[in-house]
Amino acid sequence: MMDRIYMDHGATSPMLPEALDIMTGILRNAYGNPSSIHGTGRQARKIVEEARRQAAKALNALPEEIFFTSGGTEGDNWALRGMTARGGHVITSSVEHHAVLHTCAALEKHGIVSTFLPVDENGRVRLEDAERAMRENTCLVSLMLANNEIGTIEPVKEVCASAHARGIPVHTDAVQAFGGIPVDVQELGVDILSLSAHKFGGPKGIGIMYVRKGTRLERYMTGGEQERRMRAGTENVASIAAAGAAMEAVSRSLPERIAKIRQMRDRLEEGIVREIPDVLINGGEAQRIPGCLNVSFLGLEGEAVLLRLDLAGIAASSGSACTAGSLDPSHVLMAIGRTRAQAQASVRFTLGVENSMAEVDEVLEVLPPLVADLRRLSGRA
Ligand code: PLP
Repeated sequence: MMDRIYMDHGATSPMLPEALDIMTGILRNAYGNPSSIHGTGRQARKIVEEARRQAAKALNALPEEIFFTSGGTEGDNWALRGMTARGGHVITSSVEHHAVLHTCAALEKHGIVSTFLPVDENGRVRLEDAERAMRENTCLVSLMLANNEIGTIEPVKEVCASAHARGIPVHTDAVQAFGGIPVDVQELGVDILSLSAHKFGGPKGIGIMYVRKGTRLERYMTGGEQERRMRAGTENVASIAAAGAAMEAVSRSLPERIAKIRQMRDRLEEGIVREIPDVLINGGEAQRIPGCLNVSFLGLEGEAVLLRLDLAGIAASSGSACTAGSLDPSHVLMAIGRTRAQAQASVRFTLGVENSMAEVDEVLEVLPPLVADLRRLSGRA
């Protein structure tokens, strides 16, 4: 059987060797509970604190500003629920991940009103719209750093400066950004930032949360005294260590990583545009994270293209993995003004560091006849 080509890093990524090695070693040898005072516990505590130091360094934060969660969804929930605990109004965008959008919907039942900012045709929020939405009682702006479906980088730094001038704290969901662009909390100025390790070579089910010192964030998970009483629950020691190792490895190699991934993405995009008629590149004019390419193959269902790609051993996705299987067109593609049919014709390729140019070329060999065949079958070509 031929090797499969994996171009769905936006859904999840294979683990980096640095993360895998440390994780398996800990699972075998360091089973202590970091809260235990004996040597086995102290060994586990040391591992967690080393990962906290690595995460802090990668984000240009202080170790005491880093908290470990179960992933991006928990981080987004914590930011939104923890910042609205005393009431207030939230500003977010219409293209956020459902971890934010559905949490805003849930908060509405508790009297927390949210404003969902529109975006331009490339998925970018306009600063003027954000400023116009800021109110006396706005208690949080939550704006993603990079979009998970089309890769657009949002003006988080600019919105943050403007929100801070009005005393409003800012959260960013940087789940898709870390590993694709530099993520420096001082440069961005944000107060809270959520990450998920499995998107950049760490394991699933572990998240990293940055909370700037002095931010009035209420805890969300209650229970034990872990994470300086901010996030209860026995620490996932092996995954935390792997997340820290992945953050360190990614930060160390970021410029080369970005250059390699961007070159592959650009070649794939150019090849598709050159070889296949009637395609739309969604978010193509925006500044995007380097690995993301979202294409609508007009006249087709994205799902049909995906199934045929899968048969050819190529993994891509339609929209975000979390909404795969849903019949609704992507809220992100609808927000950038695509029609229902254009949105449903979309396929997302998300490349990662272990992909190769040879794989890109193979996709470019398979895809044009595959699309032509599907169009012929649907009577379109
Ligand atoms: N936020 C964004 C932008 C994402 O892309 C994802 C996952 O796809 C999440 C949040 C949720 O992260 P997790 O899967 O770690 O809960």
